[in-house]
Amino acid sequence: MLGLMQDWPLLCHRIIDHAAKFHGSRRVVSRSVEGPIVETNYAAIRARALKVAQRLEKDGIRLGDRVATMAWNTARHLEAWYGILGIGAVYHTVNPRLFAEQIVWIVNHAEDRMMMVDLTFVRLLESIADKLPSIERYVVLTDSAHMPQTRLRNAVAYEEWIGEVDGDFAWKQFDENTAAGMCYTSGTTGNPKGVLYSHRSNVLHAFMAALPDCKGLSSRDVVMPVVPLFHANGWSLAFSTPLVGASMVMPGAKMDGASIYEMLNTYKVTFTAAVPTVWLMLLQDLEKTGQKLPYLKRVVIGGSACPRAMTKTFQDVYGVEVIHAWGMTEMSPLGSLCTMKPEYAQLSGEAKLDIQQKQGHPPFGVDMKITDDHGKELPWDGKTFGRLKVRGPAVARSYYKVADDPVFEEDGWFDTGDVATIDPYGYMQITDRSKDVIKSGGEWISSIDLENLAVGHPKVAEAAVIGVSHPKWAERPLLVVVLKKGESATKEELIDFMRGKVAKWWLPDDVVFVDEIPHTATGKIQKLALRQRFRDYRWPTAEAAE
Ligand code: ADP
Repeated sequence: MLGLMQDWPLLCHRIIDHAAKFHGSRRVVSRSVEGPIVETNYAAIRARALKVAQRLEKDGIRLGDRVATMAWNTARHLEAWYGILGIGAVYHTVNPRLFAEQIVWIVNHAEDRMMMVDLTFVRLLESIADKLPSIERYVVLTDSAHMPQTRLRNAVAYEEWIGEVDGDFAWKQFDENTAAGMCYTSGTTGNPKGVLYSHRSNVLHAFMAALPDCKGLSSRDVVMPVVPLFHANGWSLAFSTPLVGASMVMPGAKMDGASIYEMLNTYKVTFTAAVPTVWLMLLQDLEKTGQKLPYLKRVVIGGSACPRAMTKTFQDVYGVEVIHAWGMTEMSPLGSLCTMKPEYAQLSGEAKLDIQQKQGHPPFGVDMKITDDHGKELPWDGKTFGRLKVRGPAVARSYYKVADDPVFEEDGWFDTGDVATIDPYGYMQITDRSKDVIKSGGEWISSIDLENLAVGHPKVAEAAVIGVSHPKWAERPLLVVVLKKGESATKEELIDFMRGKVAKWWLPDDVVFVDEIPHTATGKIQKLALRQRFRDYRWPTAEAAE
């Protein structure tokens, strides 16, 4: 027997309909790419998104067509997303920080028909446009006054383009499993892989993301998505924020500490989210200026491990609660968040920080387990680590145009490629990427644990640990360090600092000081490049590890 409830497909544009109808005048502020800070609201965003939809249709864009965006976080980018998905086309966020050849590869693989682009990236695209035959038209996200001379195919200024329609248009209706968005993972090895979100997965994920033990969003919040919309589905903020009717503050192209601070403070932002690198810049800036964060209540930090010192500074110096989070492009992207269950809620000081080093527990909608290499489930004792596997309605089941990738296992689990522990209360902690874990004498050493320890040293700006082959132990950890400006340190000093905090056999056998550590386009340490750089490295003595 079927239930007797209404058939109400979970379509993403219903979110902006809801925001426009019940929170229509809620402020959405953007630092525009042209410069000035501009204000709008959900009612206006919906009205303009409808124009985008109508105009796309006039240009022949149809159900299932991919429309790329290469843009910063602004209200225009947001309304473009809703306009594209509102006719059943697919927003495809392209990360402008990728190498040009990767962008070419991704756009061709996705066969994007149109590209919406910020002024910042017009020159970049001009340099590769010859290699992007599928793109029929470039819409530059600006008005005619700021429109540059460009040889991009059929280029038009966005305001002029949507000005050609009246907005008297209705969203298209279709199955909730229809594709809505697309994002490629950066693919540190091999080619990037396309993840294709559906309307249903995005809507379910947005509900999940807003929950109290996730981002805990409400209409009383002022949310600033600092994480770009082109990173991992914008961490759902383009959906979960209007879903609850919270106000939105978009930082545009300026991500430096002072600019972020200006937006946080002027618009009384209560909630924000980004990778650790962004917060490092902000905290360094605040330390210099002595400014405080009186309005900010919560910050979600993820994408890579949040250093303990960062959590401590946010909480103890600025009174901002840190929510450490883990996720992946393949998971829409949220997987787990470190909010306090009753078992841990009474903790404070260092004991609380110990828990906050973990990536947290999954919300409803994400199932999780750890296994050994043969697929056997491992215990949740907080110590045993194994391959982290997940499943759920917002987890990918396949990559775009890739048949049978082994990470999608036959029994429906997705092998994340991360290595993790799970504690008795269900808190997961990432110890490594499976390809970065250091295998020493048959045992595993977590490079992330060692990196976290090393960056806790007051002279260390950034640290990476890689496994380097060793005649006796197969691999041993090598610590690569960037010191803070003007500091000097000895190898012994750093190793001594780590001594006693991890098992003796985990201690790095050597330390090398470098000026810079390579990063991926999403700000993560590029272990592969580091490993290549130290390919010919020789341990000071072959007995170093003994
Ligand atoms: P990309 O691989 O394109 O940079 P993703 O956002 O999909 O983008 O990367 C997901 C990976 O990032 C995870 O599999 C994990 O290795 C890492 N990651 C994400 N959040 C954290 C975190 N809080 N701590 C440690 N690693 C993290």
